[in-house]
Amino acid sequence: MLNIILLGPPGGGKGSQAQRLSPALGLPHISTGDMLRAAIREKTPLGLEAQEIISSGNLVPDGVMLGIVEQRILQQDCQNGFILDGFPRTIAQAEALESMTVIHHALNIAAADDVIIKRLSGRRSCKNNHTSHIATMENPDICPICGAPAIQREDDKPSTIENRLMVYKENTAPLIEYYQDKGILHTLDGAASIEDVYKAIQEVLS
Ligand code: AMP
Repeated sequence: MLNIILLGPPGGGKGSQAQRLSPALGLPHISTGDMLRAAIREKTPLGLEAQEIISSGNLVPDGVMLGIVEQRILQQDCQNGFILDGFPRTIAQAEALESMTVIHHALNIAAADDVIIKRLSGRRSCKNNHTSHIATMENPDICPICGAPAIQREDDKPSTIENRLMVYKENTAPLIEYYQDKGILHTLDGAASIEDVYKAIQEVLS
């Protein structure tokens, strides 16, 4: 069993790394942000509750998130482990996760504010959870991976990015010390290329 969590600021590259690690390790990629966005698209009660919170860049309450994650990691496909992307985001979530299962590695993909702001403000996403940056897209309205319409996430708009960074620093950054104290933290340079970060993660895991 191998349980991995991905930490780090929004736009640091957690999702990109999880998308590579998941097939390589044969473990499910569990992105709480993707789960919430799917609930919003499907207009479920959870989606209706989460919609405004996400658009403003704030955090969905711990109790709600814990319910979702506990249910998800009990599913059959998690029996050999999982890659959690975007959870935990608070110390309370981390403590609750610890009472559910053991975490083997916390990969902290760190990046400075200016890198994050540049990445998030140029990021486009499609309904299939692919993300691209306008700097490398031929057409910013079309996902280069699957051809679906690409849009800017509501919370990638400049007015919200600033709040997400503040929320990260206040609520999520303390997790770095939390996992450091547990001896399972590995920090990677999120400003490096996706390939280089991936290589560094492979070294950590080998
Ligand atoms: P992400 O795609 O991981 O950047 O998540 C997008 C948004 O979903 C966040 O800004 C939060 O509003 C919400 N969200 C995702 N994961 C969590 C979590 N673990 N706790 C609280 N809110 C979350």
